[in-house]
Amino acid sequence: MTASFDFSGKRVFVFGGTSGINLGIARCFARAGADVSVASRSQDKVDAAVAELEGMGSKALGYALDVRHEDAVEAALAAHAEAAGNIDVLVSGAAGNFPALANDMSPHGFKAVVDIDLLGSFHVLRYAYPHLKKPGASVINISAPQAFVAMPMQSHVCAAKAGVDMLTRTLALEWGAAGVRVNSIAPGPIADTEGMRRLAPTESIQARYTKTVPLQRFGTVDEIGHAAMFLSSDAAVYISGAVLPVDGGWSVAGAGAAALAMTELAQSSGRG
Ligand code: NAP
Repeated sequence: MTASFDFSGKRVFVFGGTSGINLGIARCFARAGADVSVASRSQDKVDAAVAELEGMGSKALGYALDVRHEDAVEAALAAHAEAAGNIDVLVSGAAGNFPALANDMSPHGFKAVVDIDLLGSFHVLRYAYPHLKKPGASVINISAPQAFVAMPMQSHVCAAKAGVDMLTRTLALEWGAAGVRVNSIAPGPIADTEGMRRLAPTESIQARYTKTVPLQRFGTVDEIGHAAMFLSSDAAVYISGAVLPVDGGWSVAGAGAAALAMTELAQSSGRG
């Protein structure tokens, strides 16, 4: 199903927009007529995403950077402002994940996820702010249900994404008077993504996981893109500071579903 939105003449910048859910969001905005910019670490992935978005008619721009490095984020956003002007829609979605019980996780591994997801989001939001269209910009942080549903083997992601959602709420307060809206999308399990390849690596784990979703299926990257377009559209101009689960109802089932979804993976680690 294709949702119908018109973002012609708008500039969208998706951090982490070179694969998976975030590239899906970038594609949705490009299909809706926007000019789309992306950033991530791999130059090859950036080049491939830019070429694909250009092929869709977008005036695409790309930046190879690590969101953990504030100087790189600040410089890319300044260069982007020179090249393309102000940003109408900013999506901050760069993230890392690996399943591990807290007792088996090194502090370095925990810190890496917090640094990318939370500190990286702060860098992106902090240095994008001068270049956001005011009034009118829509900022979307890509969170996860782990922000509000405790999940085994996800202590790092739970902590980092809970922080991301509090950044959403705090900046909605601080930036509201300038006419900038800030929201989070919390995608549930999304098919054909790196995140789900890591959390549900076998068919039997996928089958168990699927049963924990009230709608009985994984979502699609387009379904997350549609939510991002809705939140950035005129239909959502009074929505700010919200955390929107787009998860087939998964988070309603809560921690029990999360534990069930992860049982087999935790057992295979010898600790579940
Ligand atoms: P993905 O394809 O691995 O996407 C992550 C993106 O972030 C990639 O473009 C990656 O590109 C970039 N990235 C990673 N580390 C970075 C860094 N330090 N600096 C800059 N860019 C970096 O994974 P995904 O599963 O689609 O997840 C996308 C987002 O959705 C994440 O925020 C994730 O937490 C969230 N999410 C996913 C699911 C799911 O079902 N998959 C569920 C809930 C939430 P490079 O490798 O080139 O850096």
